[in-house]
Amino acid sequence: MIPFRYARANDVADAVRQIAAGNGAKFIAGGTNLIDLMKEDVERPTRLIDISRLPLNKVEETSDGGLRIGAMVPNSDLAWHPLVEQRYPLLSSAILAGASAQLRNMASTGGNLLQRTRCLYFYDTATPCNKRDPGSGCSAIDGLNRMHAILGTSAACIATHPSDMCVALAALEARVRVAGPSGERDIAFADFHRLPGDTPERDSNLGVDEIITAIELPARGFAAHYSYLKIRDRLSYAFALVSVAAALELDGGNIREARLALGGVAHRPWRDGAAEAALRGKAANEATFEQAADLLLREAKGFGHNDFKIDLARRAIVRTLTQAARGTPQSQSDKKIR
Ligand SMILES: Cc1cc2nc3c(=O)[nH]c(=O)nc-3n(C[C@H](O)[C@H](O)[C@H](O)COP(=O)(O)OP(=O)(O)OC[C@H]3O[C@@H](n4cnc5c(N)ncnc54)[C@H](O)[C@@H]3O)c2cc1C
Ligand code: SF4
Repeated sequence: MIPFRYARANDVADAVRQIAAGNGAKFIAGGTNLIDLMKEDVERPTRLIDISRLPLNKVEETSDGGLRIGAMVPNSDLAWHPLVEQRYPLLSSAILAGASAQLRNMASTGGNLLQRTRCLYFYDTATPCNKRDPGSGCSAIDGLNRMHAILGTSAACIATHPSDMCVALAALEARVRVAGPSGERDIAFADFHRLPGDTPERDSNLGVDEIITAIELPARGFAAHYSYLKIRDRLSYAFALVSVAAALELDGGNIREARLALGGVAHRPWRDGAAEAALRGKAANEATFEQAADLLLREAKGFGHNDFKIDLARRAIVRTLTQAARGTPQSQSDKKIR
């Protein structure tokens, strides 16, 4: 038995007060990741602060034409929300490509951002892992690394961030709204998740005494030309080997604006300004897409078992951009399962 205490937060200020008191406290939202990690003895919080009943469960329009999504909005409600389906279908597609209908009903928007890596060694407490036990070593670099990163890795960790939703949020340039003891602040999505560097135990730049309250989407939704492609070992209930979120604005046959984000390849959703710049102003054709893919992958490095990901990512980028340009997004296998 590993004892822990449980308390429910009454409101956001109370949640911040409770987390700021420290002593190994953690928030619990849907619990779909944290409970698994506790059962596997990977995480040992001494206090659980239940935030699942905080009034952060609304999707609201903002004055600048965007959307504010409360941190407790379940993944399924968000994917099926009419405003998201109409204006941000890329986000809908990415969410529906993840997990299962049951999990999406439980999983929260805030929890999705902070879900931890699926590296098998991270879960296996008998093996060294710098993320779980800083300074102990990385078992994946010379081990079974088929699922691991090819971009932005370090000598300390080659894990990937497992979220699908976050890949779309990166492409859409979302902002993360957080609250802490010194007030509220916004974090650009690109600055939210971290690369492993020599501190792989830190997944994000959220302070230990802060809570995510909302995600804000700008007005630009790329609803006409988007695609989310997820390549995985099974058609459902599997994490991405490689996933690609592509969003384009076209002017005739030319690309006016382009967003490209990858999942399953790095410690955070991967965006590359040079690859997006290489798409802007160019003809929306295979040659342009291949050039962007080569640029994005110019520093990609495999670790043996995952070498195949480099070519897979290249082909996935070209296919996703092609689908987005044609206005024929990837079919959503889970569309009928609510
Ligand atoms: C079998 C299985 C398959 C899955 N497949 C996929 C998949 O294919 N794609 C995918 O994207 N995901 C997948 N998931 C992951 C799932 O999406 C996440 O577990 C879920 O999004 C986490 O949300 P939660 O609310 O349950 O988080 P919790 O488990 O409650 O919390 C996760 C972490 O976030 C912290 N936290 C939660 N909310 C907040 C907040 N508002 N502010 C600050 N900290 C907070 C918690 O303290 C904890 O550290 C899968 C999960 C399972 C179990
Ligand atoms: S890749 Fe990262 S999470 Fe996996 S064993 Fe290495 S340090 Fe741990």
